[in-house]
Amino acid sequence: MSALAAHLRQRISKNGPLTVAEYMAEALGNLEHGYYMHRDPFGRAGDFITAPEVSQMFGELLGLWCVDRWQAMGGPDPVNLIELGPGRGTLMADALRAAEGAPGFIHAVRLHLVETSPVLRMLQEQAVGSHAPVWLDDLADVPAGRPTLVLANEFFDALPVHQFEKRADGWHERLVDIDGASFAWAVSPQPTENPPIPIPVRNSPDGSIAEVSPSGRGIINSLATRLVAAPGTALIIDYGHSESAVGDTLQGVKGHCYHDPLADPGEIDITAHVDFAVLASSAEAVGTAVHGPVSQGMFLEALGIGIRAEALVAGAGPEQMDEISAARRRLTDADSMGSLFKAMAITSPGLGTPPGF
Ligand code: SAH
Repeated sequence: MSALAAHLRQRISKNGPLTVAEYMAEALGNLEHGYYMHRDPFGRAGDFITAPEVSQMFGELLGLWCVDRWQAMGGPDPVNLIELGPGRGTLMADALRAAEGAPGFIHAVRLHLVETSPVLRMLQEQAVGSHAPVWLDDLADVPAGRPTLVLANEFFDALPVHQFEKRADGWHERLVDIDGASFAWAVSPQPTENPPIPIPVRNSPDGSIAEVSPSGRGIINSLATRLVAAPGTALIIDYGHSESAVGDTLQGVKGHCYHDPLADPGEIDITAHVDFAVLASSAEAVGTAVHGPVSQGMFLEALGIGIRAEALVAGAGPEQMDEISAARRRLTDADSMGSLFKAMAITSPGLGTPPGF
């Protein structure tokens, strides 16, 4: 049994079943045994591969997108460049390298990395240490009031979700309990009063499961508040749905294979699909403009991944040529990452539509 499983069993025996959000928060972020806290989960030898780890083209295009948005603000110096959950720092390293060609941008950037994992902070230091990043646990800790650019790739899917199950008498919160030697699903005996279920799915048939992420909403709220107080743009890329829908999307992954999310907590990655409609309406409620979501494939094509791939191919050997085209397909094809993954931008009122939307 993993150390975290032992800790969670103890917690449940003492205080009763956990909400799915409590379980997920512990499984990923427990300071001692959480999944992200002690490992580098990315890449072939790890558990999963994210877009920036597939190809440098991803971070490069996002870097040029940031330059464009900076220029649209009149090229302010300083400008806060914030990344939420930077992983290995690959995206930011590629983005800043691509942005070097833009006079004044690198000089203006004040780099803020919002990251809770000590191991990943170390890898980020290796990747972008020369840009004097400041690390923070929370977006709220980043100094406000400055023009701002925010990037978040596969960050929101790692935030805890609550699950509710529809029964004849209302929505009951789904819980994680113990059953013998394993964890098992349970539901709260009483329906939850006023559960925060998105309006379009409130009247779903009995047996439906709805997911909500108060932490996701909270971060969007704080992001949007910043973008109302000072000019800026945020780009969120993640997998999920454009419209709120019911369905259990909680997913465990280990060694590039699906894994029961209740087995081996702390040793597996756990994610849930992002409800872009909820994030968009939270951002709009604060007064920002929302663009998209559009599919990642369309977004990257619009930013010119084709041209970037051709340029890389022109300087490559035959084997690398195949790798470059395979990476482009993986990032953009509908049956790979191109369609399930989506891009959405949030901008200060009046800043215009960003490229790709
Ligand atoms: N953006 C990277 C990594 C995605 S994995 C990439 O595309 O490769 C999720 C990242 O978010 C990891 O860096 C993880 O440590 C971080 N993370 C997860 N939950 C977090 C939280 N609540 N606060 C800050 N960082 C978090």
